[in-house]
Amino acid sequence: MERLYPKYIIIHHTAGWDQPITAIDRYHASLGWGVELISPKSMVDEYRKRGFRATGRGVIISVGYHYLIRADGRIERGRPDFMQGAHCINDGMNFKSLGIALTGNFDSCSNPKGEIGLPRPTKSQLDSLERLCRILMDKYTIEKDRILPHNKVRGADTKCPGDRLVFKPEFVFDTEHVFDI
Ligand SMILES: [Zn+2]
Repeated sequence: MERLYPKYIIIHHTAGWDQPITAIDRYHASLGWGVELISPKSMVDEYRKRGFRATGRGVIISVGYHYLIRADGRIERGRPDFMQGAHCINDGMNFKSLGIALTGNFDSCSNPKGEIGLPRPTKSQLDSLERLCRILMDKYTIEKDRILPHNKVRGADTKCPGDRLVFKPEFVFDTEHVFDI
């Protein structure tokens, strides 16, 4: 496994309902994704305890994101920061970025009334997103113009994370539009 040195942060929505990272892990496993973590042991033990699938010497982490932000603002850890992601194939991003996903489907076209997931990010989610981005920016010296919504990655043909996750390049997450649709 190649070690990841994060230079970008990519923001996603899960395009579905609010669910724990272990559920998304099982879904991504069904897509054939997954990497084995065998050290450090304390981290392997922690992932096993959290319900990730144990192997003889380690644990398989299938979820493609590094972080998941739940509707209530809780941040759940997916892949460790040093592990390559499986969240954005364009522009080599899986090998140079951290992937953060918010549960929900924030695309007004495919999910106008919340039929297939929470239709817009909650205030708690946006607060957590901003807090997490600031922590990761400090830790890895990532500039704010390297925090991108998935659909702004070069070559990405996707609506992710949806038009209702209003993303301002000056790094002020717009919370005005959170509850008013
Ligand atoms: Zn995405």
